[in-house]
Amino acid sequence: EEQKKIVLSVTGVQKTFGGLQALSNINLEIEEGKTHAIIGPNGAGKSTLLNVCVGRLAPDSGTVMFGDTVLTGKTPYEINQIGVARVFQTPEIFPALTLLQNVIIPALAKRDGEFRFNVFNSLSGEKELVAEAESVLEDLGLEDQMHDLSASMSRGDKRRLELAMCLIQHPKLLLLDEPTAGMARHDTNRTIEILKRIKSRGMTKVIIEHDMHVVFSLADHISVLAQGAIIADGTPDDVRGNPKVQEAYLGG
Ligand code: ADP
Ligand code: MG
Repeated sequence: EEQKKIVLSVTGVQKTFGGLQALSNINLEIEEGKTHAIIGPNGAGKSTLLNVCVGRLAPDSGTVMFGDTVLTGKTPYEINQIGVARVFQTPEIFPALTLLQNVIIPALAKRDGEFRFNVFNSLSGEKELVAEAESVLEDLGLEDQMHDLSASMSRGDKRRLELAMCLIQHPKLLLLDEPTAGMARHDTNRTIEILKRIKSRGMTKVIIEHDMHVVFSLADHISVLAQGAIIADGTPDDVRGNPKVQEAYLGG
Protein backbone atom coordinates (compact mmCIF):
# COMPACT_ATOMS: atom_id res chain seq x y z
CA GLU A 1 0.00 0.00 0.00
CA GLU A 2 1.22 3.48 -0.87
CA GLN A 3 2.35 5.52 2.12
CA LYS A 4 0.61 8.84 2.53
CA LYS A 5 2.81 11.89 2.77
CA ILE A 6 1.95 14.53 5.35
CA VAL A 7 2.67 18.12 4.29
CA LEU A 8 1.41 19.98 7.35
CA SER A 9 1.00 18.62 10.85
CA VAL A 10 -0.47 20.40 13.83
CA THR A 11 0.27 18.81 17.19
CA GLY A 12 -1.27 19.74 20.53
CA VAL A 13 -1.97 23.36 19.58
CA GLN A 14 -3.69 25.48 22.23
CA LYS A 15 -4.57 29.17 22.07
CA THR A 16 -6.43 31.29 24.58
CA PHE A 17 -7.53 34.93 24.34
CA GLY A 18 -7.95 36.17 27.91
CA GLY A 19 -10.30 33.63 29.46
CA LEU A 20 -11.47 32.26 26.12
CA GLN A 21 -10.09 28.93 24.94
CA ALA A 22 -10.10 29.53 21.18
CA LEU A 23 -8.16 26.32 20.37
CA SER A 24 -7.78 23.37 22.72
CA ASN A 25 -5.35 20.58 21.88
CA ILE A 26 -5.69 20.61 18.10
CA ASN A 27 -4.12 17.69 16.21
CA LEU A 28 -4.36 17.70 12.45
CA GLU A 29 -2.55 16.17 9.48
CA ILE A 30 -2.80 17.49 5.94
CA GLU A 31 -1.95 15.00 3.23
CA GLU A 32 0.03 15.97 0.13
CA GLY A 33 -1.98 16.83 -2.97
CA LYS A 34 -5.29 16.86 -1.11
CA THR A 35 -7.88 19.54 -0.59
CA HIS A 36 -8.56 19.49 3.13
CA ALA A 37 -11.54 21.50 4.34
CA ILE A 38 -11.90 22.86 7.87
CA ILE A 39 -15.50 23.66 8.63
CA GLY A 40 -17.41 24.69 11.72
CA PRO A 41 -19.78 27.31 13.09
CA ASN A 42 -18.86 30.97 13.49
CA GLY A 43 -16.41 31.49 16.32
CA ALA A 44 -15.26 27.85 16.26
CA GLY A 45 -11.59 28.87 15.96
CA LYS A 46 -11.01 28.25 12.23
CA SER A 47 -9.28 31.56 11.46
CA THR A 48 -7.29 31.33 14.69
CA LEU A 49 -6.00 27.92 13.60
CA LEU A 50 -5.01 29.26 10.19
CA ASN A 51 -3.28 32.25 11.78
CA VAL A 52 -1.27 29.93 14.03
CA CYS A 53 -0.24 27.86 10.99
CA VAL A 54 1.03 30.88 9.05
CA GLY A 55 2.85 32.54 11.99
CA ARG A 56 0.42 35.41 12.58
CA LEU A 57 -0.41 34.13 16.03
CA ALA A 58 1.85 32.28 18.44
CA PRO A 59 0.15 29.27 20.04
CA ASP A 60 0.27 28.98 23.86
CA SER A 61 1.56 25.45 23.30
CA GLY A 62 1.90 22.92 20.53
CA THR A 63 3.75 22.73 17.23
CA VAL A 64 3.09 23.21 13.54
CA MET A 65 5.38 21.34 11.12
CA PHE A 66 5.70 21.74 7.36
CA GLY A 67 7.34 18.50 6.26
CA ASP A 68 10.40 18.28 8.52
CA THR A 69 10.49 22.03 9.19
CA VAL A 70 9.10 23.51 12.43
CA LEU A 71 6.98 26.54 11.53
CA THR A 72 6.16 27.55 15.11
CA GLY A 73 8.26 30.60 16.00
CA LYS A 74 8.90 31.63 12.39
CA THR A 75 7.53 34.89 11.00
CA PRO A 76 4.72 34.97 8.41
CA TYR A 77 7.28 36.12 5.84
CA GLU A 78 9.67 33.24 6.59
CA ILE A 79 6.78 30.78 6.36
CA ASN A 80 5.75 32.26 3.03
CA GLN A 81 9.29 31.93 1.69
CA ILE A 82 9.30 28.23 2.62
CA GLY A 83 6.35 27.64 0.29
CA VAL A 84 3.16 28.36 2.22
CA ALA A 85 0.78 30.93 0.70
CA ARG A 86 -2.50 32.09 2.17
CA VAL A 87 -5.66 33.98 1.38
CA PHE A 88 -7.07 35.71 4.44
CA GLN A 89 -10.70 36.24 5.39
CA THR A 90 -10.32 39.96 4.65
CA PRO A 91 -8.57 40.54 1.31
CA GLU A 92 -5.07 41.98 1.70
CA ILE A 93 -4.07 43.70 -1.50
CA PHE A 94 -2.24 46.92 -2.35
CA PRO A 95 -5.13 49.25 -3.30
CA ALA A 96 -2.95 52.00 -4.80
CA LEU A 97 -1.43 49.57 -7.31
CA THR A 98 -2.86 48.00 -10.45
CA LEU A 99 -3.87 44.35 -10.50
CA LEU A 100 -0.77 43.47 -12.51
CA GLN A 101 1.52 45.30 -10.05
CA ASN A 102 -0.20 43.52 -7.15
CA VAL A 103 0.75 40.17 -8.68
CA ILE A 104 4.31 41.19 -9.58
CA ILE A 105 5.22 42.17 -5.99
CA PRO A 106 4.82 38.69 -4.45
CA ALA A 107 6.44 37.10 -7.50
CA LEU A 108 9.55 39.24 -7.01
CA ALA A 109 9.45 38.73 -3.24
CA LYS A 110 9.47 34.97 -3.73
CA ARG A 111 12.27 35.09 -6.28
CA ASP A 112 14.51 37.71 -4.66
CA GLY A 113 13.76 37.02 -1.00
CA GLU A 114 12.61 40.57 -0.22
CA PHE A 115 9.55 42.77 -0.62
CA ARG A 116 10.18 45.80 -2.83
CA PHE A 117 7.61 48.32 -3.97
CA ASN A 118 9.80 50.57 -6.14
CA VAL A 119 10.08 48.03 -8.90
CA PHE A 120 7.76 49.35 -11.58
CA ASN A 121 10.21 51.60 -13.39
CA SER A 122 12.62 48.74 -13.89
CA LEU A 123 10.42 45.99 -15.24
CA SER A 124 11.81 46.14 -18.78
CA GLY A 125 14.27 43.41 -17.86
CA GLU A 126 11.53 41.26 -16.34
CA LYS A 127 9.55 40.31 -19.44
CA GLU A 128 9.13 36.67 -18.42
CA LEU A 129 7.89 37.52 -14.97
CA VAL A 130 5.45 40.11 -16.29
CA ALA A 131 4.17 37.62 -18.86
CA GLU A 132 3.60 35.06 -16.14
CA ALA A 133 1.75 37.60 -14.00
CA GLU A 134 -0.47 38.41 -16.99
CA SER A 135 -1.15 34.75 -17.59
CA VAL A 136 -2.09 34.10 -13.95
CA LEU A 137 -4.54 37.03 -14.10
CA GLU A 138 -5.97 35.67 -17.31
CA ASP A 139 -6.34 32.26 -15.69
CA LEU A 140 -8.51 33.88 -13.01
CA GLY A 141 -10.57 35.91 -15.49
CA LEU A 142 -9.05 39.25 -14.47
CA GLU A 143 -7.17 40.12 -17.68
CA ASP A 144 -9.53 42.91 -18.76
CA GLN A 145 -8.87 44.85 -15.54
CA MET A 146 -5.14 44.15 -15.34
CA HIS A 147 -4.10 47.83 -15.60
CA ASP A 148 -6.87 49.22 -13.35
CA LEU A 149 -6.21 50.23 -9.77
CA SER A 150 -7.16 47.37 -7.49
CA ALA A 151 -8.96 49.72 -5.06
CA SER A 152 -11.88 49.94 -7.48
CA MET A 153 -12.48 46.19 -7.72
CA SER A 154 -15.52 44.35 -6.41
CA ARG A 155 -15.06 42.25 -3.27
CA GLY A 156 -15.26 39.02 -5.28
CA ASP A 157 -12.62 40.24 -7.73
CA LYS A 158 -10.36 41.30 -4.84
CA ARG A 159 -10.50 37.77 -3.46
CA ARG A 160 -9.56 36.39 -6.87
CA LEU A 161 -6.69 38.87 -7.11
CA GLU A 162 -5.43 37.64 -3.74
CA LEU A 163 -5.55 34.12 -5.09
CA ALA A 164 -3.53 35.24 -8.13
CA MET A 165 -0.95 36.79 -5.76
CA CYS A 166 -0.61 33.37 -4.10
CA LEU A 167 -0.54 31.28 -7.28
CA ILE A 168 2.28 33.28 -8.85
CA GLN A 169 4.48 32.09 -5.98
CA HIS A 170 3.90 28.41 -6.89
CA PRO A 171 3.37 27.49 -3.24
CA LYS A 172 3.59 23.90 -2.05
CA LEU A 173 0.71 24.57 0.30
CA LEU A 174 -2.14 27.05 -0.10
CA LEU A 175 -4.33 28.04 2.85
CA LEU A 176 -7.61 29.79 2.11
CA ASP A 177 -9.84 31.40 4.73
CA GLU A 178 -13.39 31.50 3.36
CA PRO A 179 -12.40 32.26 -0.23
CA THR A 180 -16.03 32.64 -1.34
CA ALA A 181 -17.31 34.70 1.62
CA GLY A 182 -19.47 37.60 0.47
CA MET A 183 -19.59 36.38 -3.11
CA ALA A 184 -22.71 36.01 -5.22
CA ARG A 185 -23.47 32.46 -6.38
CA HIS A 186 -22.08 33.16 -9.86
CA ASP A 187 -18.73 34.32 -8.42
CA THR A 188 -18.70 31.42 -5.98
CA ASN A 189 -19.11 28.91 -8.79
CA ARG A 190 -16.36 30.57 -10.74
CA THR A 191 -14.03 30.37 -7.74
CA ILE A 192 -14.88 26.67 -7.26
CA GLU A 193 -13.92 26.02 -10.89
CA ILE A 194 -10.60 27.82 -10.38
CA LEU A 195 -9.86 25.87 -7.20
CA LYS A 196 -10.68 22.61 -9.01
CA ARG A 197 -8.18 23.50 -11.72
CA ILE A 198 -5.49 24.17 -9.09
CA LYS A 199 -6.31 20.81 -7.55
CA SER A 200 -5.61 19.08 -10.83
CA ARG A 201 -2.09 20.56 -10.67
CA GLY A 202 -1.45 18.70 -7.43
CA MET A 203 -1.11 21.66 -5.05
CA THR A 204 -2.06 20.86 -1.44
CA LYS A 205 -4.82 23.10 -0.14
CA VAL A 206 -6.43 23.81 3.21
CA ILE A 207 -9.73 25.57 2.77
CA ILE A 208 -11.77 27.10 5.57
CA GLU A 209 -15.32 27.37 4.42
CA HIS A 210 -18.85 27.69 5.72
CA ASP A 211 -20.55 27.21 2.34
CA MET A 212 -21.41 23.49 2.22
CA HIS A 213 -21.81 23.60 -1.56
CA VAL A 214 -18.20 24.71 -1.86
CA VAL A 215 -16.97 22.18 0.70
CA PHE A 216 -18.65 19.18 -0.88
CA SER A 217 -17.59 20.26 -4.40
CA LEU A 218 -13.91 20.45 -3.49
CA ALA A 219 -12.84 18.60 -0.36
CA ASP A 220 -11.14 15.21 -0.24
CA HIS A 221 -11.06 15.34 3.54
CA ILE A 222 -12.98 17.38 6.12
CA SER A 223 -12.16 18.32 9.71
CA VAL A 224 -14.95 19.84 11.76
CA LEU A 225 -14.07 22.39 14.42
CA ALA A 226 -16.51 23.43 17.15
CA GLN A 227 -15.69 25.54 20.22
CA GLY A 228 -11.97 25.17 19.62
CA ALA A 229 -11.89 21.38 19.28
CA ILE A 230 -11.98 18.97 16.36
CA ILE A 231 -15.24 17.05 16.74
CA ALA A 232 -15.12 15.05 13.49
CA ASP A 233 -12.56 14.21 10.85
CA GLY A 234 -12.92 12.11 7.71
CA THR A 235 -14.14 11.91 4.13
CA PRO A 236 -17.05 14.13 3.06
CA ASP A 237 -19.35 11.10 3.32
CA ASP A 238 -18.15 10.30 6.86
CA VAL A 239 -18.71 13.87 7.97
CA ARG A 240 -22.01 14.49 6.21
CA GLY A 241 -23.83 11.82 8.21
CA ASN A 242 -22.14 12.50 11.56
CA PRO A 243 -24.76 13.46 14.20
CA LYS A 244 -22.21 15.48 16.23
CA VAL A 245 -21.62 17.68 13.19
CA GLN A 246 -25.32 18.21 12.61
CA GLU A 247 -25.73 19.14 16.26
CA ALA A 248 -22.86 21.66 16.13
CA TYR A 249 -24.38 23.33 13.11
CA LEU A 250 -27.98 23.27 14.20
CA GLY A 251 -27.19 24.89 17.54
CA GLY A 252 -26.12 22.13 19.91
P1 ADP B 1 -13.94 31.35 13.19
O1 ADP B 1 -12.93 31.75 12.17
O2 ADP B 1 -14.16 29.88 13.28
O3 ADP B 1 -15.26 32.06 13.00
P2 ADP B 1 -12.14 32.67 15.05
O4 ADP B 1 -10.91 31.84 15.00
O5 ADP B 1 -12.13 33.95 14.31
O6 ADP B 1 -13.42 31.79 14.64
O7 ADP B 1 -12.47 33.01 16.56
C1 ADP B 1 -12.53 32.02 17.57
C2 ADP B 1 -12.86 32.69 18.88
O8 ADP B 1 -11.76 33.47 19.32
C3 ADP B 1 -14.04 33.64 18.80
O9 ADP B 1 -14.77 33.55 20.01
C4 ADP B 1 -13.39 34.99 18.64
O10 ADP B 1 -14.22 36.01 19.14
C5 ADP B 1 -12.12 34.84 19.46
N1 ADP B 1 -11.01 35.65 18.94
C6 ADP B 1 -10.43 35.52 17.72
N2 ADP B 1 -9.40 36.37 17.59
C7 ADP B 1 -9.31 37.04 18.76
C8 ADP B 1 -8.42 38.06 19.25
N3 ADP B 1 -7.42 38.55 18.51
N4 ADP B 1 -8.64 38.52 20.51
C9 ADP B 1 -9.63 38.03 21.27
N5 ADP B 1 -10.49 37.08 20.87
C10 ADP B 1 -10.34 36.58 19.63
MG1 MG C 1 -12.99 32.98 10.53
